[in-house]
Amino acid sequence: MVEKKHSFFYDWGSITTYTSDISSQELVSRAKWFINMRWLAILACTIGGVIAAAGLAPARVNPVDFAIIVVFLSSTNLLYACIGRNLFGDKSRRRELQFLLLWQMFGDFTALSFLTYALGCIETPIGALFMAHIILATILFSRWHSLIIATAAWIYATLPLVLEWAGIIPMRSIFDGRFKLMVNASFGATFGFVFASGGVFVFCWYLVSEISSSLKLREHQLEDAYQMMIKIDKERTQSTIVATHELKAPFAAIKSYIYTLRDGYCGKLPEKAQGVVERIGDRCDQITNRITDIIHLSNLRSLVVTDMRMVPVDLMAVLAEEAREGVLIGEARKIQVINLAEYYPPIYILGSYQHLKTLFSNLIHNAVNYCRENTGRVVISIESTSKKVAVSVQDNGIGIPKENLDKIFDDHFRCKNAIAHYSGGTGLGLSMVKEIVVLHGASIQVESIVGRGSSFTVRFDIVDMKQERNNHGEHTDS
Ligand code: ADP
Repeated sequence: MVEKKHSFFYDWGSITTYTSDISSQELVSRAKWFINMRWLAILACTIGGVIAAAGLAPARVNPVDFAIIVVFLSSTNLLYACIGRNLFGDKSRRRELQFLLLWQMFGDFTALSFLTYALGCIETPIGALFMAHIILATILFSRWHSLIIATAAWIYATLPLVLEWAGIIPMRSIFDGRFKLMVNASFGATFGFVFASGGVFVFCWYLVSEISSSLKLREHQLEDAYQMMIKIDKERTQSTIVATHELKAPFAAIKSYIYTLRDGYCGKLPEKAQGVVERIGDRCDQITNRITDIIHLSNLRSLVVTDMRMVPVDLMAVLAEEAREGVLIGEARKIQVINLAEYYPPIYILGSYQHLKTLFSNLIHNAVNYCRENTGRVVISIESTSKKVAVSVQDNGIGIPKENLDKIFDDHFRCKNAIAHYSGGTGLGLSMVKEIVVLHGASIQVESIVGRGSSFTVRFDIVDMKQERNNHGEHTDS
């Protein structure tokens, strides 16, 4: 019966970089949202204008007023979108972005104020649209700045009514004008409306700014807690590394005593004792390997939450070096290691030379370790397009049972057939592979048939060296 090949694709995605600059991201998304919403408002005004021009409006509205608003808002919105394009990707220009938002608000206030006038001021609830800007201002600006904006909104919303009352601009009404005439004739009615609107605006500002202040406070507390967690995690990792590192020295000493005994420097040992000493030596090697892996893994994990300098690395150079080492360890057990990528021209990816070495060292060591003596064969091959490169490490070894395929990247996990075949493993090699794959924004796929062999394929994005050189000069890390 032909054994079925099982395949697993692992893509842990690129690393999330956490920054404390949440409001910059929010500013950008709000500014974009604001621009998009304005296109909607322009559409609404266009529809309003068409209805007015067709004489379908239930009141006396002038289509020219809508046309003025559409032209004004479209031209300013295009301008905001063009300016924003240069600012959105650049966090250092946060201040300019805030100015852009402020500018957008005052542009909208002008348009809204005109619309309020065109629609008869108190005859329609159009002034309520100013509230949307007050709410947004309390989220995006400091409390006192948003109060200034709320005050400005109030002035813009009520100015047409006051100017009409003062006789500076002609009175406009969308109905028969009787209500407007009555209000305009009365100081109390006009200013009663103005101050009542002011009260509503300030109340709305107070309510939203209270809620948004407490949300902002929570957000800061969360951010602080997150930073604290990273700090604690770093300290814990550091102390694990130190403690584990300290274990290395006593084990190295024990090993040298074992060699002293084994090699007969303290007199010839009885045959049985010689065997025991050999076994102690093997266990000592295992523990030392485990310690090295734990230190390495802890270092990699601390990089996931902090930072790693990514430079262009020639993947072919890494493979050549690791394949050479693979040939040496393979020779001892008469296992063939073939590097089909040997004569490939350089392929650059963004990453860390040392970590990439660790990644392929683990895959190649595993391939050799889980092959059978004399008949084992490991093949390293690559496939590339102009954008992606895939490196495969394939062996004809013991294979991985299907039910274990989703566990092999877990810490300390070892398949039963692997434990029986090779006792020196730590179950941490593929955990390191996983961390390095994540750090490089790569993905890994595993295909295996028990008893027939396994294939690990890692896929990276190729870096455009011409562009890299233009950006950063000629430096590469290899
Ligand atoms: P180990 O030190 O045990 O090799 P790894 O984390 O590198 O630890 O691998 C985890 C487990 O995945 C191994 O114990 C083995 O069961 C399985 N494995 C990894 N690579 C291979 C391979 N090439 N062939 C067969 N099994 C493998």
